[in-house]
Amino acid sequence: MLTQSGFVRWAREHLVVLVVHNELGHEERDGLDAYGRPARLCTLYPGLSCRQHLDAAVDVDNAREDGLVQVPFVELCPNTWFVLPTGRVEAVPEEEQFVAGKVEAQGRALQKGLGAALGRAEFERLDAALRRGDEALDQDRPGEALAAWAGCEKVLAPPHAALLALVEERLAAAEEAVGYAFEDLAEPGPRDPRSLEERIRAAEGLYAATATAVYGRLLPVRERIATWLAAQGRKTPEPGRK
Ligand SMILES: [Zn+2]
Repeated sequence: MLTQSGFVRWAREHLVVLVVHNELGHEERDGLDAYGRPARLCTLYPGLSCRQHLDAAVDVDNAREDGLVQVPFVELCPNTWFVLPTGRVEAVPEEEQFVAGKVEAQGRALQKGLGAALGRAEFERLDAALRRGDEALDQDRPGEALAAWAGCEKVLAPPHAALLALVEERLAAAEEAVGYAFEDLAEPGPRDPRSLEERIRAAEGLYAATATAVYGRLLPVRERIATWLAAQGRKTPEPGRK
């Protein structure tokens, strides 16, 4: 374990440390878990039960749950990895794992590629904006979703790589949802009760609802909507304007 006080200070600000070990069978003693409850704790990894470090090992090896990152399995004990918020993983070289200064230097270099570290308050505002948008998209309100996600710009602009990855994932989901809705208007089924005029109005509605750019990105589907509307003799405002 790296216990140098400067390293520990840096690590507490910049890292979430996850210890995994894929075996049970260490000696366990009575102690208190992270919630202050009496528990049998592993004597090798302070504060954890053997079951916890085993479960964590299963999680990183398999990454079956949504949003988990798979960490490559290597025959080396210990082995140490940085898991970036973008989902990328990078190994700490074998001999450097034991040198606090080397681990910190690697962490600082990675942080540079990610942009400035965020404080907790900013993180919570971003998280709330992303969730509000997700909820709106789930309820088929893409315009509200885009407006909520665009709210991230008030917290952090330009975005760093991790946030951009989260935003782009969401824009792809919105693109798909709006794309389906548009196809339904442009190529209605034989029993579709709507008149052409009604479908044109709905397409204009989709076009207007998706006028909000998020970090400068507009949904590509807008071009298809504009082309189709033009073919129906309708003009659309410039992309990005309402
Ligand atoms: Zn153990």
